[in-house]
Amino acid sequence: MTERYADVIIDIAHEKVDRVFQYRIPDELSDAVRPGVQVRVPFGNGNRERTGYVVDLSEETDYPPEKIKAVSAVDEKGMSVEGRQILIAYWLKSNYGSTTIAALKTVLPVKQKQKTLEKKKVVRLLPEEETERAACECERKYQRAKARVLAALQTEEELPYELIRQKLHVAASTLQALEKQGYIRIEKEAFYRNPVKAGDRSETRPALNQAQRHIIEEVLADYRTGRPGVHLVHGVTGSGKTEVYLGIIEEMIAMGKQAIMLIPEIALTYQTLLRFYKRFGDRVSVINSSLSAGEKYDQIERAKAGEIDVMIGPRSALFTPFANLGVIVVDEEHEKSYKSETSPRYHARETAVEIASLCGASVVLGSATPSMEAYYRAVRGEYKLYEMRERPGNSVLPAVYTIDLREELKQGNRSIFSRKLKELMQDRLSKGEQTILFLNRRGYAGFISCRSCGHVMKCPHCDVSLSEHRNGMLTCHYCGYQERKPAKCPSCGSPYLMGFKAGTEQVEEAIHREFPGARVLRMDADTTRRKDSYEQILAAFADGEANVLVGTQMIVKGHDFPGVTLVGVLAADLSLNRNDYRAGERTFQLLTQAAGRAGRGERPGEVVIQTYQPEHYSVVHAARQDYPGFYAEEIAYRGLVGYPPVEHMLAVLIVSRVQAEGESLGKEMTDLVKNEMADVAGLRVIGPTEAVIGKISDLYRHTFYIRHGAYQTLVEAKDRLECFCRERKLKGQTVQFDFDPMNTF
Ligand code: ADP
Ligand code: ZN
Ligand code: ZN
Repeated sequence: MTERYADVIIDIAHEKVDRVFQYRIPDELSDAVRPGVQVRVPFGNGNRERTGYVVDLSEETDYPPEKIKAVSAVDEKGMSVEGRQILIAYWLKSNYGSTTIAALKTVLPVKQKQKTLEKKKVVRLLPEEETERAACECERKYQRAKARVLAALQTEEELPYELIRQKLHVAASTLQALEKQGYIRIEKEAFYRNPVKAGDRSETRPALNQAQRHIIEEVLADYRTGRPGVHLVHGVTGSGKTEVYLGIIEEMIAMGKQAIMLIPEIALTYQTLLRFYKRFGDRVSVINSSLSAGEKYDQIERAKAGEIDVMIGPRSALFTPFANLGVIVVDEEHEKSYKSETSPRYHARETAVEIASLCGASVVLGSATPSMEAYYRAVRGEYKLYEMRERPGNSVLPAVYTIDLREELKQGNRSIFSRKLKELMQDRLSKGEQTILFLNRRGYAGFISCRSCGHVMKCPHCDVSLSEHRNGMLTCHYCGYQERKPAKCPSCGSPYLMGFKAGTEQVEEAIHREFPGARVLRMDADTTRRKDSYEQILAAFADGEANVLVGTQMIVKGHDFPGVTLVGVLAADLSLNRNDYRAGERTFQLLTQAAGRAGRGERPGEVVIQTYQPEHYSVVHAARQDYPGFYAEEIAYRGLVGYPPVEHMLAVLIVSRVQAEGESLGKEMTDLVKNEMADVAGLRVIGPTEAVIGKISDLYRHTFYIRHGAYQTLVEAKDRLECFCRERKLKGQTVQFDFDPMNTF
């Protein structure tokens, strides 16, 4: 009989997980020793008994077998919260391919010695009307940060300090100044109770409509009868999904359970967080990227200690170690940012389903444009599907006009604005209403090429074209390389070296040209490089500091601007890039979400979609806000060509210092899969080839794909390849796996 070994970690702290020890599993314990269980093992020279956690099992060892000590005992108490975290790490590693250490580090928070973060709150000292007057006064003096604080405090008597600092973008010194002026008081408390007064809590709660009540009741009924399951809420933007999440979480808390609320980082806005603070007071905690590792660790500890009931945050909030998890909500479940871009490349939606099933918790997914994956499972009955078709209250869905740009050109219009868009923008400017213009591209222009010989300016380190910025520099978006734009083509000497297509900066210039007097704010990867500038721009726009906001996809996400009554999509087909099978889905999502930004207030909204491909099904269905119509066409295409979610796909990336070595490793690996898995019907191996970007920072990239209908078959292929790489002891080369990739390597 073959020996079996257990990988054990003795200390479950993030920075200690690099040390994994191997123990032999005695026969009598062979069933009991599984990943996640707690074991007693002899440790160190004195063989003192210590407690450890099993993180993995194997049948091989790098040590002389006779030197390996045996596991002494298995803890019978059942799985602890820590054990569950480790089990999740094991699942990540097995399902997505990564090292044990990388998987553990994904799941365990970083411990850091530092003093505990003090909880503070900001209390208003003056009555509502006087605070309002003070806010107007500050506004008049252009003290906008102060005005933001006072305006927020008008409706809430007190607010969490960190919410004001992080989400209203107010400096600590501004708050101190307001305190000196006698408007506010900053109070310190180890833990504050009820940051929002009970009185206004009931006020902010709308009477739920029939659709909302139905979803809440179903989810809870399933949970109570021991079939928690996965629930997908397909609701147009503004249909009241967040109200549904709040209702479910509230009931869960009443039952003594906890909740994880995933929201993409970009949608963690002041308004959204305020709704959670208002409902759940200090039982809520938020994790986001602006927190330090130590602060995150504190939050996790509070969760473990039972001091909070709701953890809100992007992807990583998923690993909050609650003792009695009742529900995981994944809002905007279609968001690309839910997939990790580093190993293990896990998807938060799938991982949520796994964690929930380990904990007996419910999963609630929500989106206006569900991912093909989630909707496919819902249609097949694996998930329960709910539709919310209407917006509550007076707010109505916008009118959408699709404009054929080819036709505009025929009519002699060379502007980037169609006649319809121009007319509507003019109308909004004259009425003092706001417009959002959306462009799916950053930088001043796209690639730079020679109009005489076609030479394209490329990065010398990466296989991508350089983009031109207004400062005259050509920049590589992958490695940051910069060079000054040459006056003449380096290949033929022609002076006609120029960029194609408009970027956000060019749009901004065009607005100034065509609508003199318009006040414009621009938001793209360049203007939001600083961590907080993103929210600053949004706050300025919400404050009415501009009448037009121009931006890339980041502006279409979950923001509520009641003053916006017009949304223009300048070139809808820029995202219909054909070498990515998700291009149609992404275009549909972008257009639908962009359209959803219009008319969130009392006034009806209008949307103009400009495109060179008005007949494309993504454009047609988005213009009608017809998700099922889009889904039907898209899933037929995915099924026909065997793409996810109908079949599954494993992308393998080989990064090498020497180009030829990457090529030959790719060849060996594909041969191995083809030979060893020759009897698996329907298995397809594509490649190896050079990756779409063949070189980044002087490292060569090769890729190949394996496709099959069953996910587990691909996991098996991955296991074989991992085994091969381990035996090879690769030097100067790394191999990465990506299941059902969101991006092409
Ligand atoms: P979503 O999350 O689907 O975008 P929200 O839950 O944010 O929708 O709701 C959009 C707006 O409608 C919010 O201002 C919310 O307070 C309001 N709202 C939600 N449900 C109701 C309801 N039943 N009656 C009145 N207003 C509601
Ligand atoms: Zn040239
Ligand atoms: Zn580069």
